[in-house]
Amino acid sequence: MLSPSGWAEVPCARCERRVAGLAWGELCPDCRIERSRRANRLARRISIPATLLVGLYVILRVPALPVARFYGLLAVLTTYIVVRKVVQRVALEMLPR
Ligand SMILES: [Zn+2]
Repeated sequence: MLSPSGWAEVPCARCERRVAGLAWGELCPDCRIERSRRANRLARRISIPATLLVGLYVILRVPALPVARFYGLLAVLTTYIVVRKVVQRVALEMLPR
């Protein structure tokens, strides 16, 4: 099977297994899944402590008014989602092969 570039079958950039339809420098589906799994693990390990820190800040520093507590809860949830997405994306780009 030829690569999308149309002239050669190319190996995976990590495991060097030849898979149909890969372009030069791309990872095979198995390596891509493994890389995504590592990025997810790292994102979880960083986002949970960051969320706990924000939660601690909200508990200690935000006044006990219902509206303030609501926005504090919103900040905690937003922190978890944003930190996780950013770390996951950066890890996908920066993790070694
Ligand atoms: Zn591979």
